[in-house]
Amino acid sequence: MTAEAHIFRLDAVSKRYGVTVALDNINLSVERNEYVSLLGPSGSGKTVLLRTIAGFETPDEGRIEINGRDVSSLPAHERGIGFVFQNFALFPHLSVADNIGFGLANRNDPLPHDEIVDRVSDIIKLVGLEGLGARGVGQISGGQKQRVALARTLVTEPKLILLDEPLGALDANLRGRMRNELRAIRERLGVTFLHVTGSETEALAMGDRVIVLDRGHIAQFDHPDHVYSKPATPNVAKFLNRYNMFDGSISGSAFKSEYGDLAFIQKTKSDHPAYAVRYDRVAVDSDGSAGKGPSLPANFIASEYLGSSIMYFFEAIGGKVIEVEHHLSHGAPKTFEPKKSYRLRWKPEDAIVFG
Ligand code: ADP
Ligand code: MG
Repeated sequence: MTAEAHIFRLDAVSKRYGVTVALDNINLSVERNEYVSLLGPSGSGKTVLLRTIAGFETPDEGRIEINGRDVSSLPAHERGIGFVFQNFALFPHLSVADNIGFGLANRNDPLPHDEIVDRVSDIIKLVGLEGLGARGVGQISGGQKQRVALARTLVTEPKLILLDEPLGALDANLRGRMRNELRAIRERLGVTFLHVTGSETEALAMGDRVIVLDRGHIAQFDHPDHVYSKPATPNVAKFLNRYNMFDGSISGSAFKSEYGDLAFIQKTKSDHPAYAVRYDRVAVDSDGSAGKGPSLPANFIASEYLGSSIMYFFEAIGGKVIEVEHHLSHGAPKTFEPKKSYRLRWKPEDAIVFG
């Protein structure tokens, strides 16, 4: 990849706080005009990674390049990066328009007043805040505050915008709408977004590519469909919240688990053995006999509608909950009898096995 193709690059970046390794030898290169989601459990280093790129934290080791330039020793305000925080951090005493124009009016070489007014009014239209410019930020809703926070960053025209759980404070309905809008705004402006989210659904839905962080290192960086269907490690499969995971060990061509030998075809090399099967690849059979292929007995507990699919919860031996997802586009929902035993089956080629 040439220096022109990527907007930023991290080479062997590490960051420690005492004995905590927050970032562990991060190598990462993101292309211009990409929407990259950053997914990982709480404490995996997402915020530290963003703050290190932005220049609010200094790495202990490694090098950071933005736009082909080594910025490792540049202060945050000289890196040309926009940052949208989870808690909005708006100025409570300023209007919507003044919050948005603040950065333009208060930089070293302030823009002429007319130009600020024009740029602010363009951005207000872009993020859908028309008519609210004169309002105080205490007089607008949570979703509107989030738009102000985004607008305030967009108006400075950065080529790279870092967003730290920007939708975390919004309710589910608004989150969905803002997701679509964020993508649309980004496409119109041609900027790179690096978007931190704790929601696997959001990460998979929004990213052109998805980074999965696991205890300070990058466990996977790939297109969402690959991350979803070919998780690189057992932890990635776990974070996705779409796989039933079984412990055990590999012996020849079988995975030995507490449910007996589970068949599989392919194996991914890993230090930790694990057997994973996606919720939507499990079939429910009222015939309790083992038959051919991997299967296990489990009692039906409950179901839950999710709009386009329905989740069935079963309890296997030892109390383990097995989830089965039925896409409603594949047929009408089924009814199962609570506490009754069923046989859960899947194809060996659908098993993802690590070891
Ligand atoms: P998250 O993925 O939830 O955003 P963070 O990036 O905030 O996680 O934190 C990664 C790790 O670094 C955590 O173990 C956290 O406790 C630690 N950490 C972050 N900032 C500091 C700090 N200023 N001082 C000490 N430890 C920190
Ligand atoms: Mg965080």
